[in-house]
Order: sequence, then structure tokens, then C-alpha cells
Amino acid sequence: MHEYTPAVEETVRKLAQLCVERLAAEPPLSGTAAWEQLESVAGKTITAAGLGGPEAVRLWAEVLAPACIAVDHPRYLSFIPGAPTKLAAAFDMLVSASSVYGGSWLEGAGAAFAENQALRWIADLAGLPETAGGTFVQGGTLGNLSALVAARESARRHRSGLPRRWAVCVTEETHSSVAYALRVVMDVDVVLVPGDERGRMTGTALRDAVDRLPPERRAGVFAVVATAGSTNLGIVDDIAGIGAVARDNGWWLHVDGAYGGAGLAAPAVRHLYDGIEQADSFIVDPHKWLFGPFDSCALLYRDPSLARTAHTQHAGYLEAVTADGEWNPSDYAVHLTRRARGLPLWFSLAAHGADAYREAVERSLATARAGAELIRRADHLDLLVEPDLTVLTFERIGWRPDDYTRWSSHLLDTQQAFVTPTRHRGRICTRLALVNPSTTLDDLRLVLDLMR
Ligand SMILES: *Cc1c(COP(=O)(O)O)cnc(C)c1O
Repeated sequence: MHEYTPAVEETVRKLAQLCVERLAAEPPLSGTAAWEQLESVAGKTITAAGLGGPEAVRLWAEVLAPACIAVDHPRYLSFIPGAPTKLAAAFDMLVSASSVYGGSWLEGAGAAFAENQALRWIADLAGLPETAGGTFVQGGTLGNLSALVAARESARRHRSGLPRRWAVCVTEETHSSVAYALRVVMDVDVVLVPGDERGRMTGTALRDAVDRLPPERRAGVFAVVATAGSTNLGIVDDIAGIGAVARDNGWWLHVDGAYGGAGLAAPAVRHLYDGIEQADSFIVDPHKWLFGPFDSCALLYRDPSLARTAHTQHAGYLEAVTADGEWNPSDYAVHLTRRARGLPLWFSLAAHGADAYREAVERSLATARAGAELIRRADHLDLLVEPDLTVLTFERIGWRPDDYTRWSSHLLDTQQAFVTPTRHRGRICTRLALVNPSTTLDDLRLVLDLMR
């Protein structure tokens, strides 16, 4: 099994060829399948004797891969798509083949050095100080959790009296992963700040909401989460205003830019993020709008030593890596063993340069702006929210929920697009999320015309 026999080599070469073919062509959108359907075709795949490489490859390529929707298809416009560069995806294969351990400097110095340079590029976009640093974690969910754990640990250490309950300020549009981290994992209360008509948190609303709290609850607030690109609507909170309130009160400012943080690279919208330089922590997912493969979240701290205090694990067998004071990526988040999941972004950035990233982000923004105009002008459609970034939320005038479901299934069944219904202010509507620079205005027109 571990020897490089001719049979193994044949399968390795076949897999490499499939990778090259997948990267060379526009992906088929593909679809989904019921468990029973896959079971009837694939059968039992794990057997005592093994199927052999060629048969396992065939099963994947002919049966299982077609039952996975390609997130990098230009008309995958649901949820938040992904659009890895060819070089990022290809480098990810090499990372796997190289068995790089990304947790400690001792074992993965070269990987940590490269990842830290990619993090530095992001820190510079946000205007964070030279001392800022962090690591890449699996996704925004773990990034938000790790940041909030560090925030609470910092409050525990720096405050004189401890409150009865800790609390964090958020809005209705704050991503579900934040409420999950706070309520389920950390057992921390949520203070809900009302958003404006687009769901945006402002400094004024934050101050008012906290002023209304009973003193005991107010004393428990240790952080506020500003969203830089809400997932549902693509709206950026008033980070500067929120930051000022956080500073006045000694709270930690966490900025969740899992989807929208990439917009920092685009001069056209950079002003929306004013104030982000005050963030104590910040996340952005390369697997969303920074053209990396799954799965990767860049997590940055203004003062990484506060995060290290919260997250370093201590054990006898780990002393060799923790004693020397080197930069160990494991020390900055909820993880220990880690894939060096920032490397695909680093490689692609190093090869293509930062300007190419700026241009690619700006292309999605320009397509989204043109798409919004298309919706505004169409007499069968109603744009529900003025977008800040690349999410377009709109209604087909006169449609009922069933009509959206039928239209959505038709698009996927006919391999034209993947768009799902959503809910806005209690009403079913739909949204297009754009992060793929290959998505064109014609792609959007096709989808919108099928709503006539
Ligand atoms: C996607 C998203 C998350 C969660 O990130 P995962 O990578 O899916 O864990 C958190 N916050 C925002 C704003 C997001 O868009």
C-alpha cells in the first residue's frame, strides 16, 4: 500500500491527469443525488480486498463527482460560491503530497513563513500594525470562535471584577456562526443591536442599545462583532462608528469579513471598511472571495500575544515546540494539528502578484453593479436592498414561494445555473452572490430572463 508499485503509479498518474483536466475546462455544474440513487449505482465501496485503484477512480469520476455541484461554475450564484485560481488549486495538491505539518515552526518553518507573508498582505490591506499576526483555520466559524475566545480571555485577565454573565454585541445580520460560538460553545450572552433599514449596525445604534441595558448586563459586555459584508445582503457595518464605541468602553472589536473582507483589495469600495484598522481581530475566508480552495480562513489579531495566552496548549510532549518561543501557528486558534491551509493562497499570490487579486475582486464588483442595474430596469423584478458588495437580493414581482422553488430546480436540472430562494424580512425572494471573476453580465442576464 505504501510502495510505489506500477499499479499505484498508474492510478497516481490518472488522478494527476483528472486534476489537470478539471482545471483546464469550465466545470460541469453537475447536481445532487439521493442517497438511495448513489447506493444503487455505487454499491458498497469499502471491501476487505479493495476495489483497486482504477475502479475507485472510475467510481469517483463517473458516479460520485457528478453528484457534487461545482462551486466554481460561473453560474453557481447561491450561498457564497468559491473560485480558486488554477495555481491555488494545483498547489493544494502539492501540499497534500508533501505531508507538511503546519502547526509548529520547528516542523513547518517554511510553510509558516509563507503563510505569515500572506497574512501580512491581508493585514496591510486592513491597515493593521506591524505587530499583527495570526494563522489560517478551517473556516470562518472557527475563525470567529477563536477570536472571541481570545477576546474573553483578554477581558478575564485585564478586568478587576468578573461579571455574572459575559456578553457580546451583534445584529440580526451577524453570521450564524457567531451566535453558535457565543451561545453553544462559549455560553456567552448576545446583545442584539437593531440594524438600520439594510440591517447595518451603526455606532449610534450600538451605543443606544448598550445604554438601555441594566447595569449588570452592561458590565458583562466584552466585545462587539462588526460584519464586513453580511452573508445574506453583502452589507458592511459602520466599522469606524462601532470601533469608537468599543474603544470608549474598553471592548474588543472583532470584524467578521469571512465573505466581504476581500473587498479591502478593491479601491472602489475600500472606504466602506474605514475603521477596520482599529480591529482587535479580523477574519477573511480565502475559500470565498480570495480565490483559494476549501477550506481556509485567515485569522488576524492586532496583538497576537493575547491570542497565544488563550490558545496555547501545554503538554509534556509539546515542550519541544513551545519552549523555544518560535512562531507556532497552532498557538493562535482552536486547533493543534493543522494543514498549512494558507499555502494555496500564498502560492497564487506569490505567482500572480497582488495587482491581479485587486483586478479580480474589482471584476466581481463591477459585474454585481451592472447586475443590480439590470434588476432595477427589469419590469418583472424588484431589487430589495441596495448592495454594498456583490450580493443582489431581489424579488420576481407576483411570484409565490413555489414559483421560486420550481425556477431554482429547473435551472439546476437543465444545468444552467445554481440559484436558491432565500428569505428577506419574512418574505421569500432570491439572491445572487458573486465572487467568481469569470461570472459575466450575460450569465446574470440568462438567470434573470428565465424568471420572465
Ligand atoms: C461564510 C461566513 C462565515 C462562516 O464561515 P465558514 O467558512 O463557512 O465557517 C462567517 N461569517 C460570515 C460573514 C460568512 O459569510
